[in-house]
Amino acid sequence: MKIKQFIPQDVCLSCRGCCRFKEMDSILRPCLLEEEVQELLDKQIPFAAISIERKLMLIPDPKQENSYICPFLNVEDNHCKIYEFRPFECQLYPFLISLRNNKIFLTVDLNCPYVKEVIHKKEFKEYTEYLSAFLNTPACKRMFKDNPHLIQAYIEALDLLELNL
Ligand code: SF4
Repeated sequence: MKIKQFIPQDVCLSCRGCCRFKEMDSILRPCLLEEEVQELLDKQIPFAAISIERKLMLIPDPKQENSYICPFLNVEDNHCKIYEFRPFECQLYPFLISLRNNKIFLTVDLNCPYVKEVIHKKEFKEYTEYLSAFLNTPACKRMFKDNPHLIQAYIEALDLLELNL
């Protein structure tokens, strides 16, 4: 499932924030759809890179102590080694699907510097509307029903609008 990219590719990853995590079991580590697990395995990705809960297993950052990275991040050039088929959650980020008191919200991670820059601009509002319509399509609703582990209590994310998933 492909989402229209929000952050321009030359900006994305330039802050060196994405794909890096403070804890090995960070809530932000990418969750995989059922079909993405199979797709990665078909592409000879080692089984050990995927946890039993269908999340990517983080590895220690070779360049920074007490920091963890996605196993597919190339720390030399700061790029994703599987960008062309990166998981749905990676495409969605900095937007996150959050659970709040049994309701589901489209939220955004304010740790992304690009979001902070554009959050009050027209392009942000337009993209949010696009995303809301996309997430409410029957195919997407089905996907979330089959992959409920993608909906998590992302405490630090800012609520944008409620989703009817
Ligand atoms: S799969 Fe790619 S985009 Fe997703 S966290 Fe890993 S390096 Fe980043």
